[in-house]
Amino acid sequence: MKTIHVSVVTPDGPVYESEVEMVSTRAQSGELGILHGHIPMVAPLQIGAVRLKKASSTELVAVSGGFLEVRPDKVTILAQAAETAEEIDVARAEEARKRAEMRLDSKQDDVDVKRAEIALKRAVNRLDISQRKF
Ligand code: ATP
Repeated sequence: MKTIHVSVVTPDGPVYESEVEMVSTRAQSGELGILHGHIPMVAPLQIGAVRLKKASSTELVAVSGGFLEVRPDKVTILAQAAETAEEIDVARAEEARKRAEMRLDSKQDDVDVKRAEIALKRAVNRLDISQRKF
């Protein structure tokens, strides 16, 4: 099977680079499955998982939004933050989840609800990916 080159890049530097059989992720327009030869496209990504299928394994990368650029032999993901499943600090994500939930439960006027909701999404996404729930 022909492979496709994938790189995941953040402002802090590259996070993942490999040849894979298929890249799957959820764009804002819906689920995407990308194989070698896919038509060129650019799509915004949600907070979620990028699944990278190889011959004998599937790897997961958590992405906190960003963009996906597809060329026939290459996929580039530009994300504000991204971590492979192995890199995720579970205790940190658990703390971030609790903090966001406390802010949302507090109903105080000075809480930026939208910001807390997005932080909660990032934390839950990291926890799900660390437990390979995708
Ligand atoms: P926190 O409140 O714990 O900082 P956050 O969701 O606000 O979480 P981000 O702003 O998305 O964090 O990310 C800041 C940097 O920290 C990025 O480089 C990101 O990859 C890294 N990061 C955040 N949470 C984790 C985690 N649980 N494990 C590993 N790296 C993380």
